Amino acid sequence: MEKPVHGTIGTDKYQCIIEWRNGKFIADEPASVGGKDAGPDPYTLLLSSLASCKLITLRMYIDRKGWEIDRIAISTNMYQETKNELTNTIIDCDILFLSPVSDEQKMQLLEIAKNCPVSKILQGDLKVRVFAFRNGDAKTIKYTNGQITVLWKPELCQHSTRCWSQLPQVFKPALRKWIDPDGASAERIEQQITLCPSGALGFLKNDQSG
Ligand code: SF4
Repeated sequence: MEKPVHGTIGTDKYQCIIEWRNGKFIADEPASVGGKDAGPDPYTLLLSSLASCKLITLRMYIDRKGWEIDRIAISTNMYQETKNELTNTIIDCDILFLSPVSDEQKMQLLEIAKNCPVSKILQGDLKVRVFAFRNGDAKTIKYTNGQITVLWKPELCQHSTRCWSQLPQVFKPALRKWIDPDGASAERIEQQITLCPSGALGFLKNDQSG
C-alpha cells in the first residue's frame, strides 16, 4: 500500500485511533470486555476488510462484463473451534445478489468472490512480523553525499529487510560500504528511512550534518 495504516492508543479503554491515507476512525471493544463500543473491534475490522474486498472485486468484474447487476449484499461472520489443542477459524461469507442473475453468472461470480485479493492473503502463506522502534545512543556510522547524510546504528537494526528490499539502489547489504546515498534522490531516501521500524536508520539534511 502506498501508505501504512497508523494506530495509537492512550489510557481511554480501549479506543484506538486508526489513521489511513485519507482520514481516521476509532476502533474499540464492546462494553462486555471493558470498551465503549465507539468503533468496530479488531475482528469486525477483519471481516469488514474481507466483505468490502469481495464486493469491490465483484463490482469490478460485473462492470467489465457489462452485466446489469445493480446491487449485491454480503454477510460475514467467523467461528472458532478447538480440537486436539488446535484452533481452527472458519469465516463464512453469504453473498446475496439483489438483481436477477443467471445460474451461469452466479457460478462465475462465486468463483471471483472466492478469489478476491484479501481472501488470497488470508489463505496464503501469511507472516505477521512485529518490530519495536527504539531511540538510542548506539554507535552511529554516517554515509554522506552533497545533499543528505544517512545515519546507521547497527546495534538497533532488527533485520526487517525493508530498506534493502524496497530501495536496493541505496541499501546494499552485500557490500562493506552498504549504504550509497547517491543511489536515489534525497527525498526518496528520506521516505525510505522513515519506514525503518527499528530506529537503526536516520538522516540529516546536508545543512544539519556539520
Ligand atoms: S529497515 Fe531498518 S531495521 Fe530493517 S534492515 Fe533496514 S536498517 Fe535494519
